[in-house]
Amino acid sequence: MRERRIALLGATGSIGRQALEVIAASPGLSVCAIASGTRPIDGLAANFDVEHAQVGGDVVELLERAEPDLVLNAIVGFAGIGATLWALEHGVSLALANKESLVAAGDLALDAWKRGGGLLLPVDSEHSALFQCLDGHGPGSVDSVVLTASGGPFRNHTPDELEHVTVEEALAHPTWSMGPKITVDSATLANKGLELIEAHFLFGLDYDRIEVVVHPTSVVHALVRLRDGAALAHLGYPDMRVPISYALTYPERRATPVPGLDFSAGLQLEFEPPDLERFPLLRLAREAGERGGTFPCAYNAANEVAVAAFLDGSIRFLDIAALVADALDATDGAPVTHLAGLMTADGEARRLAAGRVAAAR
Ligand code: NAD
Ligand code: MG
Repeated sequence: MRERRIALLGATGSIGRQALEVIAASPGLSVCAIASGTRPIDGLAANFDVEHAQVGGDVVELLERAEPDLVLNAIVGFAGIGATLWALEHGVSLALANKESLVAAGDLALDAWKRGGGLLLPVDSEHSALFQCLDGHGPGSVDSVVLTASGGPFRNHTPDELEHVTVEEALAHPTWSMGPKITVDSATLANKGLELIEAHFLFGLDYDRIEVVVHPTSVVHALVRLRDGAALAHLGYPDMRVPISYALTYPERRATPVPGLDFSAGLQLEFEPPDLERFPLLRLAREAGERGGTFPCAYNAANEVAVAAFLDGSIRFLDIAALVADALDATDGAPVTHLAGLMTADGEARRLAAGRVAAAR
């Protein structure tokens, strides 16, 4: 592989740190730029001999200066939008962990991608799995795709029990170790909702061709149903270093320290449909996605505000879905034709959600 200079955004986070591990073990990959939101990165930058390092500030300026071959966007939340659009517009390969930017700005991102003509490589494990299973299968042979969800820590909770769950309980994910925002999203199933919309934009599939199934052990990451009745699945232990390595070294497939499946220990592959009554954020995401326009942006913005408020103890677990539902009700869903319009929609949904949080205090 030709030397690949990577801009790593969100370097201090869960994905960022695992990416540094993958890069350190992978000859030919180097880090030309590194960024975090607030946490210092001096040590990281020195270890990797990085020329351009930045804490906070405008990541697009950093990207302009660094001229990377590939951007790994591992920023959390809507804050990653500038980097996503920049890479797509400039035809620079984009390894995308930051699903929120694609959900909020899907139509703009697709336009930029078309103009830029670069690679868009999903890092989200389900989407990386789909990307691989779809390879070589034209749209005519694919019936639908299936995203698996662990179901989170509250899979078997009654509605009463869900009323009283704590932040600590929500942060104890059964199968994945991740940053706090996505861990809460996994407990509410908003993460799967965001992933549903992410899959729509990544693979150009209508929503009725994207299914979600609960699979508690997270060994099957996704499936593609083909029209002849066959289904292709992607399996592996839940470890993000695999999809990170796949995206960073694409189209090569490098070795990782992650062990292959061990059948001697037994392998549980159980599936059940998600409960949209107890986990309304998945239903709301499908509705927001189907309605399109600014609805996915409003969904994401209200969810970000609500999750932050839940994490700081201002609202309760079930309030997260209520806040998102309110924000969607207040959204006009206008088509997104330019970034300014999207920023306005994002800001309005945030203000509305923040108002509800203040009222709940
Ligand atoms: P995290 O909270 O652990 O890390 C987030 C990173 O983003 C930190 O380095 C933080 O400093 C940085 N950041 C925040 N705001 C920033 C800004 N304005 N400018 C620059 N950097 C900023 O989050 P994470 O779990 O690593 O998740 C990152 C993204 O990857 C999210 O979109 C998440 O949904 C997605 N993702 C994560 C996992 C996982 O296993 N952690 C799996 C799939 C997808
Ligand atoms: Mg995922």
